[in-house]
Amino acid sequence: MNILVINSGSSTVKFQVIETTDATGDLLRQQKLARGLVDRIGAGASYRFEGLGRSTQSGSLPVGNHEEAVRSIIHWLRSDGHDLALDAVGHRVVHGGDEFLGPVRIDDGVISKIEALNELAPLHNPAALSGIRAAQKILGAAVPMVAVFDTSFHHTIPEQAATYAIPYELSQKHKISRYGFHGLAHQYDIARYADLNGKPVAQVRAVTLHLGNGCSATAIRNGQAVDTSMGFTPLEGLVMGTRSGDLDPALVNYLARKESVTAVDIEDMLNKRSGLLGLSGLSNDMRELTAAYDKNPRARLAVDVFCHRARKYLGAYLAVLGGAEAVIFSGGIGENSPLVREKICAGMEWCGLTLDPSANATVIGTDSRISAPDSTLDVWVIHTDEENIIARETARVLQRR
Ligand code: ADP
Repeated sequence: MNILVINSGSSTVKFQVIETTDATGDLLRQQKLARGLVDRIGAGASYRFEGLGRSTQSGSLPVGNHEEAVRSIIHWLRSDGHDLALDAVGHRVVHGGDEFLGPVRIDDGVISKIEALNELAPLHNPAALSGIRAAQKILGAAVPMVAVFDTSFHHTIPEQAATYAIPYELSQKHKISRYGFHGLAHQYDIARYADLNGKPVAQVRAVTLHLGNGCSATAIRNGQAVDTSMGFTPLEGLVMGTRSGDLDPALVNYLARKESVTAVDIEDMLNKRSGLLGLSGLSNDMRELTAAYDKNPRARLAVDVFCHRARKYLGAYLAVLGGAEAVIFSGGIGENSPLVREKICAGMEWCGLTLDPSANATVIGTDSRISAPDSTLDVWVIHTDEENIIARETARVLQRR
């Protein structure tokens, strides 16, 4: 079965075409047939398309909305005598609220329910809906579509970890809960770790640290999430590229008063001008900050605050789990920054974690163990493949019917 995986962001559409060979295991056995993206939709869009046996194409593209972007992707997949059969489409949807605890075949009722969740994810769910509607319009009813949610993996988080300590009635009234995000990434990381270690995911107890532009940590027991650092929105938890992560909520009102701005302005600042960017005043890109670490005190501070927070969550999640067998680093920073991994893991021998310095220095962007042979808590680097999970779930939902 060939599955087109569509991941629509606010101004991007990323895609892959995946030929599934076996969707029964924790990880999909697959072959990637094509992938690419349309970027900066509506403001001088550009594209990059790559396919098996075809030359890579890139350049600018006159597309003004998601529908045109999806249309150009499908047109390319069917052009040049490479009429790639598309048997199904899997869409990544960020927020499933308490409505979608797993993937679901898309119909009009599902679309309405995703739409109703727009309020909880105003930047993300409308983009996913545009991608769904565009694909339906272009491919027609004959091609089944499945929605796979970034929040679903976290629905196993118990009440004591998912509930904020605010008046209970308010949480009930407004559906306030720690939903968690990056679920597809954490789900892939743990499945891949289990696969590499030859064991069922249901036997794995680990902490996953997904560190990219957005960052989150998840505590996983028996292959299921039991706590995660992002909450009602992706703003909570770790320090990120431009997001602050955890802070004292009293700061919102205090800063609004002091700066004569609104709470909305402060929330915007916490999402877009904080984190690594706000701390360093230099960049939200960890590459630049680690390169400047020795000579720029603000870059150094940003990296140190980032690592301290991640390490604090690691310690907390080891306590939540009562110990673990592995810590897994993923995401652009987790995969590629030995300095960050070293700082997060330094001095953790008390819990059995010892890095292998030479493995840590050399493992960049590949799936490999970086802990010392005698470390009782293993440390792994895993390159996340969210599309694998989206395609697997899509195939499973369609096979169930
Ligand atoms: P997203 O969360 O948008 O999917 P990625 O997982 O691709 O992002 O992570 C992007 C981030 O990874 C970049 O902003 C950069 O900070 C970081 N990164 C990429 N390569 C390196 C590197 N060699 N060293 C440190 N950080 C890196």
